[in-house]
Amino acid sequence: VIADGRTRSVIGELVAANRILANAGVLDAFGHVSARHPSDPTRFLISRSRSPELVEAADIHEVHLDGTLAEPGSHHPYIERFIHAAIYAARPEIAAVVHSHADEVVPFSISREPLRPVLHTSAAMGATVPVWDIRDGFGSETNLLVTTIEQGRDLARRLGAARVVLMRGHGFAATGRSVFEVVKIALYVPRNAHILSAALALGDDPVALSDGEIRALSAIDPDAPSSRRAWEYWCAKAGIAVPGGAT
Ligand SMILES: [Zn+2]
Repeated sequence: VIADGRTRSVIGELVAANRILANAGVLDAFGHVSARHPSDPTRFLISRSRSPELVEAADIHEVHLDGTLAEPGSHHPYIERFIHAAIYAARPEIAAVVHSHADEVVPFSISREPLRPVLHTSAAMGATVPVWDIRDGFGSETNLLVTTIEQGRDLARRLGAARVVLMRGHGFAATGRSVFEVVKIALYVPRNAHILSAALALGDDPVALSDGEIRALSAIDPDAPSSRRAWEYWCAKAGIAVPGGAT
């Protein structure tokens, strides 16, 4: 398959996103990041089953929104690709998805304490972060992994109109309108969780961002020069070239 310019550009961002999120510890041996195909919204781009730290452009493959491979038998895919497939199917405006097992976030998936944005850089995670429990739809004998499109659709229903959904005892899925945005959200959701946990340990009732603050922060143009600056910083930290070249 010969990719067009726009697709090559998204693949470059996707490879960078894998390296950045691995470097930051948001993804380790497991977890993944994907992008909707820019010229075919019924497909998405995701690495073959490989740890994010190691992903290269040649690892990126196309998957349909039911989780089947565009080129069946071409590679060994991620077992949990159904998380991505079902979210793209349910949310046409979503262009990128991250699935992470970050430690800082998991306590909020197994307790009654809701995860909410308390940090100004975390506004894009939205005021409400639902928790999905695989037990509710699939019983108490699953391996907790999202291994079927039915499980993916159930997760996407719990996500609803939110930006991030927690997965009980497992991790989270974050969505973005671009690869840049989902990288930013995935980087800051664990930091926000860490800060909120610290505030809760102080024994007080932490102050969350207001709906108005979330709206004002979300109105900042994701293509502003400050965004470009973040790509450069993240790529320098991860020791990789900036996707699309230096500014
Ligand atoms: Zn997982």
